[in-house]
Amino acid sequence: MSKGKSNAYFSGVPDALKADILKKGHEYTIAKGYELIRLKKPEVPWVSHVWNRWSIPKHSFLVWIHQHNGLNTKDKMHKIGVTLDFACCICDRDREDNDHFFFKCQYSRRIITEIEKWMAIRIPYQDLQEWRDTRRGSQLKRGLINSVLNACIYSIWFQRNRSRVELQLLRPEIVARQIITQMKKRLQNTIIFPVKDKDKRWIQGLLDLN
Ligand SMILES: [Zn+2]
Repeated sequence: MSKGKSNAYFSGVPDALKADILKKGHEYTIAKGYELIRLKKPEVPWVSHVWNRWSIPKHSFLVWIHQHNGLNTKDKMHKIGVTLDFACCICDRDREDNDHFFFKCQYSRRIITEIEKWMAIRIPYQDLQEWRDTRRGSQLKRGLINSVLNACIYSIWFQRNRSRVELQLLRPEIVARQIITQMKKRLQNTIIFPVKDKDKRWIQGLLDLN
């Protein structure tokens, strides 16, 4: 490779990547290139809540936007002067913000109550983030609970938007049933048996295998 040609090939390539490519015996892969050029920031504590093998990708993506305060709630729109109205689209009682939707709104609470019965756990609506951050138990159980909570956040936001556009709202019990059906299928497709004994009975209960 002539010097001129080499510079043309490396035009715009960051120095770190260039040095790595020029190493003797270097084998370039897209993954290596991406790791070298991507902006690296400290990992946030909620990364495993959002991105895990049990969560459905479209749920993870919406929750990721939510974690970055990217959902256009009426409270947010009110604060930037887009609207004067900030009452919750669903219950019309409280200020519509992330905290209210997930899961202080009475509509959300009724969904979460059904989920609590199905999963045999208590999900606090106060300090939910902290509860998710500090929750103990096996990686499998924490992952499954997080994936179901992601499904709840997705479904509640979907119903909220539907209520605005189509002026229709499914009953919370029906939404909870849809979430449970969807997550059972997801669980069946992602679980790798055998699992530890302490998780087995709980998972069998989720899948109605008892
Ligand atoms: Zn509400």
